[in-house]
Amino acid sequence: MRAMLLHELGGPVTFKEVEEPRVGPCDAKIRVRAAGVGLTIIIMKSTPGLVTAYPRILGHEVAGEVVEVGSEVRNVKVGERVVCHFYLTCKACRFCRSGRETLCENWKGYVGMACDGGYAEYMSVPSLNLCHLPEGIPFPEASIISDAIATPLHACREEARVGPGDTVLVIGAGGGVGIHAVQMAKLCGGRVLAADISGEKLEMAKALGADEIIDTKEKDLVQETIRLTDGKGAEAVLDFVASAQTLEAGLASLATAGRLIVLGFRPPGVFKVEPTFRVDPLLVLSKGLEIHGSRYVSMAELADSVKLVQQGKIKPVVTRTFPLEEAETAHQMILANKITGRAALII
Ligand SMILES: [Zn+2]
Repeated sequence: MRAMLLHELGGPVTFKEVEEPRVGPCDAKIRVRAAGVGLTIIIMKSTPGLVTAYPRILGHEVAGEVVEVGSEVRNVKVGERVVCHFYLTCKACRFCRSGRETLCENWKGYVGMACDGGYAEYMSVPSLNLCHLPEGIPFPEASIISDAIATPLHACREEARVGPGDTVLVIGAGGGVGIHAVQMAKLCGGRVLAADISGEKLEMAKALGADEIIDTKEKDLVQETIRLTDGKGAEAVLDFVASAQTLEAGLASLATAGRLIVLGFRPPGVFKVEPTFRVDPLLVLSKGLEIHGSRYVSMAELADSVKLVQQGKIKPVVTRTFPLEEAETAHQMILANKITGRAALII
């Protein structure tokens, strides 16, 4: 089959014909139809320790059809359309059994890092990682539900607890995940302040529901948030950039009892800057602030995310598509900040 392989930490992906994957008793083999491409995957392939063996087929956001199932598989059928949860969890520990499987005590890593992923014609994964995809959602849009749409659902609903009347500052609002966080925070009843560094990305955030936009190339993020909230600050800050600078600004932008949600990681090896940020304990204590790490979603939340797209409540933003063989071109364009929303490979 055709596949794009990663040969070294942070390296480029290159095309190769390889063997089709084998199917274990609890696995399902998928004919991959589309795979999402975003900064997430570029960061993951450059973070030491995530890729467990080389060469590796990348691809963590996958949509396709089941073509074969192992002897023990009961939850999906051949021919079924599916999207894929990208954490390899044990399904048995106390976190897996209480809806917090992303904190799995026996976690094996990410699909596309610890096992081969979706930058190929076929992929084999544990069938319990698959979620039914209804007819009517095209594969490119469906592929990005796995991460870009699902991640904001957990962040808004469980971590930031966004409700009617809350002001939500989204930092990195025009990125692949951020653009869906803008929509999700609106859907939860929030008033959204969208911050980013590119005019084109901010225009899209505005078109998808942001109430206010903050161009951080021109304006100070904290001052502008304070001004737009009549001096109070935002009840929730979702930081998809997660640099020391944005995290400290996010903390300073919070209202009393506000929640800062950390949603990104910028390895110093890629971005050449230390991401550790400073926290003033007196500020956190006196204002009753909360700092949350938001780690992906449960299977139930992935199914909810599919439902929101099916109902038309969240619009998947895929602005560019590429053939499989041009995956590296897509990576380079994303690194150069040239893609608004998400890109997808059509396979
Ligand atoms: Zn577990």
